[in-house]
Amino acid sequence: MRTVLREDHLLLREQADKFVAAEILPHLAAWEREGITPRALWRKAGASGLLNCSLPPPYGQGGDFGHAAMVIEALAHANCLGIGFSIHSDMVSPYLWNFGTDAQKELWLPRMARGDLIGAIAMTEPGAGSDLKAVRTRARREGAHYVLNGQKTFITNGVNAGLVVVLASTEPDLGARGLSLFIVEEGMAGFTKGPALQKIGQHSQDTCELFFDELRLPADYLLGQENEGFGYVTHELAQERLAIALRACASLEGMLQSGAEYVRNRKVFGRRVLDYQNTRFKLADALAKARMLRVFLDDCLARHLQGQLDSVTAAMAKLNATELQGQVLDDLLQMHGGYGYMAEYGIARAWADARALRLFGGSSEILREIIGKQF
Ligand SMILES: Cc1cc2nc3c(=O)[nH]c(=O)nc-3n(C[C@H](O)[C@H](O)[C@H](O)COP(=O)(O)OP(=O)(O)OC[C@H]3O[C@@H](n4cnc5c(N)ncnc54)[C@H](O)[C@@H]3O)c2cc1C
Repeated sequence: MRTVLREDHLLLREQADKFVAAEILPHLAAWEREGITPRALWRKAGASGLLNCSLPPPYGQGGDFGHAAMVIEALAHANCLGIGFSIHSDMVSPYLWNFGTDAQKELWLPRMARGDLIGAIAMTEPGAGSDLKAVRTRARREGAHYVLNGQKTFITNGVNAGLVVVLASTEPDLGARGLSLFIVEEGMAGFTKGPALQKIGQHSQDTCELFFDELRLPADYLLGQENEGFGYVTHELAQERLAIALRACASLEGMLQSGAEYVRNRKVFGRRVLDYQNTRFKLADALAKARMLRVFLDDCLARHLQGQLDSVTAAMAKLNATELQGQVLDDLLQMHGGYGYMAEYGIARAWADARALRLFGGSSEILREIIGKQF
């Protein structure tokens, strides 16, 4: 019983589950080998109402963040942590929606809702990850243009992206107060992408580097006000962290179900692995903690739907969810024995895919710093 969810949320969840089963799972192994998901998948997701769920038409599907949560959870529950819909819908599109001009919204959001245009967000650089004020990518004003130079790394959806929200410095002397956001489109002269990076997990995710070399951007590709970028980034963090927490929780719930099935069927020394007390105790701990996490996240979701999710609570949500996910997936892998280490087993993929969730969107250490400031 999840009281935060309405009938229309549950209907979308059903639709998303069907989409994942029909359009993703049969192809996932091939996409994992290829290191990318096809752009056609995005158009299918758009046609099925699964992108930009929380924005009004024609910019999105006319729902709220509860609908977005249903798509996030359907993917994660089915062990599809490498599919980048959430960054596109719940991180990139909200920047355009919250800070874009009407013309910018018209130009890009309907295409993003249809899946014709894939979004990415580029903040991290080789020398600036947790500490974003160290961003070196520079945008200098020249008449009616900004000229962009620099490099970004670890960019989710990077290879497929047609639109990238880029954090760059407009006033290097001002540090965080001199950062601005820009839109960069694929194909612009001076914009190049590296190949998909070789990662230890999320292989179907086309994470890559981006390079800007004297890229001339029309001034109306600035998003919001100049030098306000850091404030915009901070504004979006609560939703982004809740989205990651929801992914982590649904992933651990899904893997707990499939892991329990495995230990029910696997026999060792003539007994089912489930019949060993150690297995039952580990599963019991995982289930008890997962239930507590779910109640907390539903409370966060309810707060967010009322516009009242604060940044510290969102940090707690992501920290709790991703740390528990990591611990439970590791225990589940152990229960699978050597099979748990074999790539063809779902638990192996989940374990490796999940590791990134404690790093991006604010590492666990950064979240502890935020929460620790309460004392
Ligand atoms: C799979 C994946 C996808 C990603 N997708 C994107 C994306 O789409 N867009 C994007 O912009 N970025 C993306 N990132 C980058 C991600 O946001 C950064 O990796 C993250 O912010 C950490 O930055 P860093 O890697 O530079 O680590 P660093 O900042 O160098 O941190 C190194 C270590 O120091 C710790 N640390 C840092 N500061 C403190 C502190 N104050 N106190 C204690 N410990 C600290 C960190 O927690 C970490 O353990 C992605 C990363 C991965 C792995």
